[in-house]
Amino acid sequence: MPKVLVPFADLYLQYLGMKESIDSAIADVIRTSSYIRGEYVEEFEKKFASLVSADYCVSCANGTDSLFIAMHALGVKSGDEVITTAHSWISTSESISQAGGNVVFADTTASSYQIDPEQILSKITSKTVGIIPVHLYGQPCDMQRIMEIADEFNLWVIEDCAQAHLATIDDRYVGSFGDIASYSFYPGKNLGAMGDAGALTTNNKNLSDSMAKFARHGGLKKGSHEIEGINSRMDGMQAAVLLAKMPHLRGWTSRRQQIAQIYSEALKEIKSISVPPEIIGTQSVFHLYVIKDKRRDELAKFLIERGIQTSINYPVALPFLPAYKKYGYKSMDFPNAYKNQSQILSLPLYPEMEDWQVNLVIDSLREYGRYS
Ligand SMILES: *Cc1c(COP(=O)(O)O)cnc(C)c1O
Repeated sequence: MPKVLVPFADLYLQYLGMKESIDSAIADVIRTSSYIRGEYVEEFEKKFASLVSADYCVSCANGTDSLFIAMHALGVKSGDEVITTAHSWISTSESISQAGGNVVFADTTASSYQIDPEQILSKITSKTVGIIPVHLYGQPCDMQRIMEIADEFNLWVIEDCAQAHLATIDDRYVGSFGDIASYSFYPGKNLGAMGDAGALTTNNKNLSDSMAKFARHGGLKKGSHEIEGINSRMDGMQAAVLLAKMPHLRGWTSRRQQIAQIYSEALKEIKSISVPPEIIGTQSVFHLYVIKDKRRDELAKFLIERGIQTSINYPVALPFLPAYKKYGYKSMDFPNAYKNQSQILSLPLYPEMEDWQVNLVIDSLREYGRYS
């Protein structure tokens, strides 16, 4: 195997860049024994709400629980249909079933990786209760059209912002369009903890209280269990780490956007490769930089031989996973998601990437372009 020159991601490098503040944040948690809830978690909730311009933030254990907790608060019950995208990480659909609902997939648009609002429209029935759009790869969905549809059919909307912290549509943050926004702080996300962590934001006090209550054993005060809930808590260590990282998020995001721009400028010249679509009025935060190439597997091999790691997010679109085999979906039911799954390739893109690494990726792709 050739030596890795450009890893797909490098979380240790991020840690080294801010070692002192992380070490002291963790030491503070240990000194004050604030392991579960406590001051760091409270401060995190306040600061994160303010960061994304939301009124309320409820922290929880991860970005899958957050979707489940949101649906519980919105009253999803057995037989309810929830529409979501065919192209996402499985948490999005898994949590619908977990909440007791039925998953209804809608295809992505032909020119993006985002859910197609017209496909949502075609899937609405008398049993539909809500929509979960996913701002996949950090690229915002068409929230204006999705909210029009939701308003017309009286549906709730949970925005899955797990990959899209600080992404915007017309200078407004994603997560502020629907009823609830769900976030993940999985270590590799744009804002990542050193373990699992998640959060929900909303501007609706009732929803916020009901989510917090459910996530914390059914009571907001110690000893009060008004309902049966679950145990889904962000721990103090993760909150302290996230607080230490939060001030860096804007800078990291700009660097991601800068690398994405350099990639796109250079790769536009290569005929066989499609670069991520630029959608007018939106600002992607490039959690992932995903290109398309008809000979994707050959390309990935070509890059690894030059020391460049890549990834596929995700190799199989949700409707075609063994988990959903019972529905018997055919490729033509979701033609865009189906076509994309065999062509997508995520290139390395993270804030700590050095210019020579970006250039190596570009030069290698140019070399590939000459052969293809
Ligand atoms: C990461 C992710 C989640 C789940 O987050 P976890 O914290 O890993 O549970 C949900 N949805 C999407 C789109 C994600 O990328």
